Amino acid sequence: MAVLQMRRDPDPILRQRTKRVREIDHKTVKLAEDMIETMHAENGVGLAANQVGIPLRVAVIQISHEDEPIILINPKMIRREGQREIPEGCLSLPGYQGMTKRSLKVRVKALDISGKEIRIRAEDDILAQALEHELGHLNGELYVDHLVADTQLWRPEDIETDGE
Ligand code: ZN
Repeated sequence: MAVLQMRRDPDPILRQRTKRVREIDHKTVKLAEDMIETMHAENGVGLAANQVGIPLRVAVIQISHEDEPIILINPKMIRREGQREIPEGCLSLPGYQGMTKRSLKVRVKALDISGKEIRIRAEDDILAQALEHELGHLNGELYVDHLVADTQLWRPEDIETDGE
């Protein structure tokens, strides 16, 4: 496995809609494994293929070390319900966070790495947020597109060192 080079905003690949994987082959498996390695190296909970320069509909998510990483090939949002406001950050915009509008419940359909259809439901948790975030990447979106109106981005490290 290898750690891949991260693409950061304003790299134009982050604004590209990615393409469907037509056939899951050894290259797809290698990409998913390298993406998991890269997500771990970056201490992220999710990563989309265009964030490492590959414009394909592949994403990986792992909320905690106790969980198995989830590999999503050609994921599709099949349902969104409700709304909530939560702080969010992104490995492609390092050092910033912003308050975003996200769904309360999401349901996603995808293929796993063996080509089997999987369905994931999540509600009001980090997994729900990560699913929306990563699927957004695959459509060329960034979380800053979903900021709560008139909220600015902030740098968490400024708050930590402020006033001491
Ligand atoms: Zn991101």
